[in-house]
Amino acid sequence: RVRRLTGLAPTGRLQLGNYLGAIRPMVTAQSTADDDANLVAIVDLHALTVDHRPHEVRAYTLEQATTLLAAGVDPASTTIYVQSQLPEHTELHYLLECVASHGEVHRMIQFRQRAQASGTGHSRLSLLTYPVLMAADILLHDTDEVPVGEDQRQHLELARDLASRFNNRYGETFTVPRAVTPRVAARIMDLSDPGAKMGKSRRSGQGVIYLLDPPDVLRRKIARAVTDQGREIRHDPIGQPGVANLLEIIAAGADTEPAEVAAGLSSYRQLKETAAEVVIDLLAPIQRRYLTLARDPHQVRAVLTAGRDRARTRASATVARARRALGLL
Ligand code: ATP
Repeated sequence: RVRRLTGLAPTGRLQLGNYLGAIRPMVTAQSTADDDANLVAIVDLHALTVDHRPHEVRAYTLEQATTLLAAGVDPASTTIYVQSQLPEHTELHYLLECVASHGEVHRMIQFRQRAQASGTGHSRLSLLTYPVLMAADILLHDTDEVPVGEDQRQHLELARDLASRFNNRYGETFTVPRAVTPRVAARIMDLSDPGAKMGKSRRSGQGVIYLLDPPDVLRRKIARAVTDQGREIRHDPIGQPGVANLLEIIAAGADTEPAEVAAGLSSYRQLKETAAEVVIDLLAPIQRRYLTLARDPHQVRAVLTAGRDRARTRASATVARARRALGLL
């Protein structure tokens, strides 16, 4: 058996990269797995590592849970819960801080980028220790596989290092996880800035395809996507990042290869129109189900509480193991 965990931070509305990089692989895996194999955590404590508005974090948490269910996460086979409702995450976070070194967390690229964005000296201490909390999220559940986009691979390496180091020093305690990155669309880029990853917390949403964007908004955003001056349609992520990004989106949506998609297109206009149609078709069923589920937020909350209760048994066993191994009475 293989256990998988996906984490999503409620820092904004879910976007296409989240879906293709993390949610869809999870939904696909869930259909062939047994009950205890898949977990999805809405990692709200991670949303507190950057400047945040409390009412937004709360609203995004519920919206994300609803969107995940709409996207096909089935609570009968996948445990879906909110990180802060399971205090074992923070307890294990502290225990792992005692095997992590200052230097290795300082080396994390995402920390450097985000710390820089918030102005030197003003970033939160929790932003530095974020990858250690992420390691705790993963190790807490004896996770074997973590479906992640390219952007999270370095954090996954840290989780692996911490698990192995802990096991070597204090005895076999954690499962050492591995990252699983989708072959196509592992890194969807922002439509208006193809040099940057699409992200749900980006300040301008103009280049971000949100899963709940209505069709007219999707068409407009994709029509305005930055391509380049050329006319040729090739899959060349370095030379033509904007075009390559649209090709990858189409390929991921239509389940083919970017080069194959390129061969069938003759103009940038056709490329954008095809991308818009593929994305609209991909998101339509999710949006339809979202509208139904959003009518009953109490039901969504009940799913989250049940998920938390289900996740608790293993989480507390893992923490107990780690405490004992470290010498706590
Ligand atoms: P933020 O803007 O707050 O960093 P995010 O949209 O990058 O948010 P995360 O909550 O950090 O999303 O990550 C959730 C999951 O989605 C992770 O598995 C991550 O690898 C994946 N993911 C995020 N953005 C992309 C992207 N552009 N392409 C592919 N996968 C992505």
